[in-house]
Amino acid sequence: MQSSTTIRLVNLPILFDTLSLETLPADIQAQISHIDACLPQTQCGLCEHPDGCLPYAAAIVLEGESYNKCVPGGQPVTDAIAQIIDIDIDIDINSHEAKLIAAPSQWPIDATSERPTEVRAVIREDDCIGCTKCIPACPVDAIVGTGKHMHTIFTDLCTGCELCIAPCPVDCIDLVTVERDISEPERIAEQEDLRQRYHTHLRRVTEQLADSSNSRPVVSMVEAKLNNAASQSLDISEAQAKNTIAAAKLRSKIKKLEKQLSVRANAQKQADLEALQAELSQL
Ligand code: SF4
Ligand code: SF4
Ligand code: SF4
Repeated sequence: MQSSTTIRLVNLPILFDTLSLETLPADIQAQISHIDACLPQTQCGLCEHPDGCLPYAAAIVLEGESYNKCVPGGQPVTDAIAQIIDIDIDIDINSHEAKLIAAPSQWPIDATSERPTEVRAVIREDDCIGCTKCIPACPVDAIVGTGKHMHTIFTDLCTGCELCIAPCPVDCIDLVTVERDISEPERIAEQEDLRQRYHTHLRRVTEQLADSSNSRPVVSMVEAKLNNAASQSLDISEAQAKNTIAAAKLRSKIKKLEKQLSVRANAQKQADLEALQAELSQL
């Protein structure tokens, strides 16, 4: 059953080497490939496979893992996998139980797609301190550093996987819901594109890890394409980090003086306070 579906399982990033997919019989490869093709490719890990959709697809076929665990895929994906397994695998007649209910999502079901409502991440840029921690967390390289506003997210590329939320030390990434009405062929094409973006991301990270001369943090693929925006954002990040620390120290001194002045007026302290406030506003 060698076909375009099994082509999906060759030349994979080394992250998937341990799955040894190329050594499996062609029909098993085809099942894994079919399942992977219908998964949303957000690589969110909510199915308890932090390496993404493909390892989950492999686990369903090779380890009998439950096929209802893809949270963003919801019931349509659960049903699609059930159909693939039924078609492609000789299931014991006793296991033909009612189809499983998809794992619940924290987001409401979208009436059009019948999947959990999609979300996109948005950085509150005024609050971003430019620490770059969100960049390597993004499996599709949707985050870039920009001029004054430090980091931003290309909403069109964001899949709403939520993986950038936890690493942000100042909690300045919000999730907003989006409503889309896309056809099934469009969804399949989009998933294929996301899959390729994830693999590109993995290969780039692999190269960076292997390059001992590269001591810089992982930067986004898109960032690199944008005329060396990576180096610019790193310089800005360092400057911003220094400013943030300096501002925190100033605020602390200002609070102390304000407290003292609220108890007793003092001309010298008042002058010091005004000087510190001016310094803070400069920052
Ligand atoms: S999109 Fe679904 S299959 Fe892919 S990693 Fe997320 S939960 Fe797992
Ligand atoms: S920007 Fe955040 S939510 Fe969007 S794809 Fe990247 S890591 Fe996921
Ligand atoms: S992790 Fe948060 S603070 Fe750091 S660059 Fe990303 S959005 Fe900005």
